[in-house]
Amino acid sequence: STADDTSKVVVITGASSGIGEATAERLAAEGHLVVLGARREDRLRDLSDRITAAGGRAEHGALDVTDRHAVKAFVDGVAERHGRVDVIVNNAGVMPLSRLDALLVDEWDRMIDVNVRGLLHGVAAGIPHFQAQGSGHFVTVASIGAHEVPETSAVYSGTKHAACAITEGLRIELDPSIRVTTVSPGVTTSELADSITDPGAQQAMVGYRAAAIPADAIARAVSYAISQPADVDVNELIIRPSRQR
Ligand code: NDP
Repeated sequence: STADDTSKVVVITGASSGIGEATAERLAAEGHLVVLGARREDRLRDLSDRITAAGGRAEHGALDVTDRHAVKAFVDGVAERHGRVDVIVNNAGVMPLSRLDALLVDEWDRMIDVNVRGLLHGVAAGIPHFQAQGSGHFVTVASIGAHEVPETSAVYSGTKHAACAITEGLRIELDPSIRVTTVSPGVTTSELADSITDPGAQQAMVGYRAAAIPADAIARAVSYAISQPADVDVNELIIRPSRQR
């Protein structure tokens, strides 16, 4: 093993594209062991292979964060194989934007299931390990949508406000040996907008996306947060394109 004192075991959900993928590549390049979960296992396999070929350490497994038992089994498996879980990056998310009066209620449910329940499942899976170890770090990927509510973003922003509240709750309630970071990206290059089915919201995205920053900009924020010494807890980071208003 190439592990040293600063090398961490990092679980990343939603690692098959966008911000999760970029975070996996960056953290692996920095010497961490990354454990990648998402539904598209073929994409994870390609990413794992790329990381390994570059001299990094990666593992992957199919994971649907809406399945509470699957998330627990995923994280328990990491602890069994490696004796610890240092960081859980709860990143998986969907963003099918629409105006409330379009009544895309199934899509509201989907956002709540992935963005809120999925986060809670990661939290529930991590807490027992972090408490037993006496250390751990939850990184929540929220959104600029947790700080503002643009048109078409009511439910998405609702899920991201919830993500911030849950993460702040972890900070207040858990032992100080367990750190929490909320990373809120602005418009970032990824596949996120592909989940939009509403034509109006799709159209609005075209202008927005012109200002997008690379996913590695967010990966660098995660790297910064998890590389601080144990007595430093970076709680909130907003990273937006300079051009985004
Ligand atoms: P992508 O669509 O590129 O990535 C989303 C990831 O989430 C994919 O890997 C997808 O993998 C995974 N995912 C979706 N549903 C599930 C599920 N049920 N179980 C497990 N994994 C799932 O978008 P981003 O990289 O942009 O999104 C990452 C996070 O960043 C999200 O939480 C998003 O809300 C947030 N964000 C992104 C912004 C941006 O502009 N890009 C701005 C603000 C926040 P798979 O389909 O294989 O399961």
